[in-house]
Amino acid sequence: MLKALKRWLRDRALRGDAVHCPLCDRGAIAFLPSGTPQRPHALCPFCGSLERTRMMGLALTQRGLPKAGQRVLHVAPDRSLRERIQAVPGITYIAGDKKEPGYTYPPGTVDLDVTAIPFPADHFDLLICSHVLEHVPDDRAAMRELFRVLKPGGLAILLVPLSTRPTTDEDPTVTDPDERQRRFGQRDHVRLYGRDYVDRLRAAGFTVTVERPAATLPADAVFRFGLKADEDLVLGTK
Ligand SMILES: [Zn+2]
Repeated sequence: MLKALKRWLRDRALRGDAVHCPLCDRGAIAFLPSGTPQRPHALCPFCGSLERTRMMGLALTQRGLPKAGQRVLHVAPDRSLRERIQAVPGITYIAGDKKEPGYTYPPGTVDLDVTAIPFPADHFDLLICSHVLEHVPDDRAAMRELFRVLKPGGLAILLVPLSTRPTTDEDPTVTDPDERQRRFGQRDHVRLYGRDYVDRLRAAGFTVTVERPAATLPADAVFRFGLKADEDLVLGTK
């Protein structure tokens, strides 16, 4: 009860119209700092969305996706985008995550190894796999699996942390978390993708397009939706 009251007071204090979250459709006085190193203007105080989640939400809204009757696979879903998609009537929504002991998952979450996806070929109209592949040792197998389960004509949103370097930095012998942090950007990342990320996706079968949504919007909209100016939306089709 006290927790609910605190939450209500906090939400009231943060309500505003300086920024707007396209996922929970609420206005706030600001997005909050998040991440290590900390990024200002990152986290929605209401639904917890981040810059990339809002970018994906806007991309789906622009395309009118998902549509009633479609099947969606969301790998390792974040709450804000999951709730936005699950609210669409008439879709089949599957959340999949590699279940680890000690963690809890939303009801209905499928235990999913992305290198051996337990669904038939040509099954999903929409796939979302964001910030997963950089954790997966055999990412090429994962990409092939994602391609396999995507329906011809379907859409896959395939985001990873991307450096501006031309080639991916990876070394399976680097297992020390501090060294992974230094070299790959996070203690549990096994590589840092370069611009050749799209070549790996193409090798798995995808037709790849890379968009930069913030570049197509006026600066005030980029600020209002809390997008990163230089973040790419990597899309795969079949
Ligand atoms: Zn939100």
